[in-house]
Amino acid sequence: MDYKKLAEVYEDLEKTSKRLEKTSILSKFLKAIPKSDLQNIIYLIEGRVFPQWDERKIGFSSRSTIKAISVASGNSFEKVESLLNKKGDLGLVAEELMKKKKQRTLHSKKLVVKDVFENIRKLAELEGKGTVDKKVGLITELLGNSNYKEAKYVVKTVLENLRVGVSEGIVRDSIASAFKKDVDEIEKVGDYTADYGEVAVLAKENKLKSIKLKPGRPFKLMLALPAENVEKAFDDLGKPTQFEHKLDGFRMSVHNDGKNISLFTRRLEDVTTQFPDVVEIVKKHVKGKSFIIDCEAVGYDHRNKKYLPFQNISQRIKRKYDIEDMAKKFPVELNVFDVIYHNGKNLMEKNLKFRRELLEKIIKIRKREIILTKKLITDDEKKVKEFFKEALRKSMEGLMAKNYDGEYKPGRYVKGWMKLKEVLEPLDVVITHAYWGEGKRANLLTSYRIAIMDNGDFKDIGKVSTGIKEKAEGLTYWKMTSLLDPLILKSKGKEVEVKPKIVIEVEYEEIQKSSNYSSGWALRFPRVVRLRDEKDVRDINDIEGVKRIHNLQRKK
Ligand code: AMP
Repeated sequence: MDYKKLAEVYEDLEKTSKRLEKTSILSKFLKAIPKSDLQNIIYLIEGRVFPQWDERKIGFSSRSTIKAISVASGNSFEKVESLLNKKGDLGLVAEELMKKKKQRTLHSKKLVVKDVFENIRKLAELEGKGTVDKKVGLITELLGNSNYKEAKYVVKTVLENLRVGVSEGIVRDSIASAFKKDVDEIEKVGDYTADYGEVAVLAKENKLKSIKLKPGRPFKLMLALPAENVEKAFDDLGKPTQFEHKLDGFRMSVHNDGKNISLFTRRLEDVTTQFPDVVEIVKKHVKGKSFIIDCEAVGYDHRNKKYLPFQNISQRIKRKYDIEDMAKKFPVELNVFDVIYHNGKNLMEKNLKFRRELLEKIIKIRKREIILTKKLITDDEKKVKEFFKEALRKSMEGLMAKNYDGEYKPGRYVKGWMKLKEVLEPLDVVITHAYWGEGKRANLLTSYRIAIMDNGDFKDIGKVSTGIKEKAEGLTYWKMTSLLDPLILKSKGKEVEVKPKIVIEVEYEEIQKSSNYSSGWALRFPRVVRLRDEKDVRDINDIEGVKRIHNLQRKK
């Protein structure tokens, strides 16, 4: 199929914000796509070149994109860069420059979807030295064959910034409507495959029924939404709720199809070969001819048997050699919390009470090999708080709260699972630099470099861009921009240095040591909470305070 057709659909999708209209545009388009292109076009509509479960990134930099645009459009690198500063979005830059270009390249040919897909996919696959030029060449080739509209979407896709407003729900509904299928059925198969490209092909060929939950085939796992506090968890999940310790390991879904045991991560990677120790444990201590159980694999120190943070064992996941050795050095304990399939039966639609009771019958508990997650089923807030404290004392990340009457539903959803994490005391920091946004936000300062105090000097501790709102109540980008704009001292590309005057309160998940920032510390997942306009910059947090919080966090 010609890429031009897809570019036209992107344009139509961009023109409307109405969900139903988007669904109708997309469903009409899907009907017309030949089978050979269908899977790839679904990915491209989702703004990616891999299925959802495959978290590989395209990883092509803005700089390389500028190079490709410059060669394809016959403009200097500087010209492209300066236009980027004006427009704030390389897709729009490519569109404008290719529009002005009078002639197509001598050897240009018609752009087809297959070539776009394959060239972009190669960006993620080519590795090692000397590949940068090759990669730039692949994109230059696509742009050379593009008209200006096509160029805009090629660039946006390459930069993983498509933004035509197509959510997973719209893709699901469009497939259902295009191929006259039930939305729930499409969603279910979408959950089992985590690949709407594959689902579309199955729907077109009337083969949806061939996909069933079966051991050996990974499926999307159930995830948790954050809960602000215990009260909110009860509000959403009802009473009683099942609370569990939230362990700091990694997700492992364990399958036994009657013959073989296989292990999958949350990203659906098969890690069976990396964990022969786990396979042995499961063979010995889980009852049932066939099953799928959901677990957290937690590392522990083989000498003193104490749990270790995830970082210590993460290397086992990708390891290809010395596997037995690694298993001895970095053993893991399986903490089982769910059973989704047992002796030929899919249990997803059974409630948690049923599943947990079954789990308690089929796991033979062996400390530091396989255990069940510690649970508390209660309607009493006080008891939960005690349980939370106990979890933190034992170095857990916090608690999981689970709807006791809820089914097992892949993905994150309201009334399913929630996570309660400890919020460390927020920091007051000052903004020293800010960055202009992209696209619609090109005239707004949307992210901020923040600093703490160190003996009268400001020292960086991170960059924050979440917590600010687009519009409505709360702190908006517009408000931040109006405060920072008059304080600009220097500009360089998209970065501006500002007079350190604006104090904000930030929350974060953790403080880490870091050589990226001049304070020597970094905030993990910082989020702006509010402006502290009453506060003087001299009263912001200092490095001693940060060290103190870091120590507290370690003792947890
Ligand atoms: P998060 O990654 O913060 O969204 O939290 C969800 C993750 O917590 C899951 O994917 C699991 O890997 C992990 N986890 C730890 N303890 C539990 C538990 N008791 N139940 C479910 N998930 C858990």
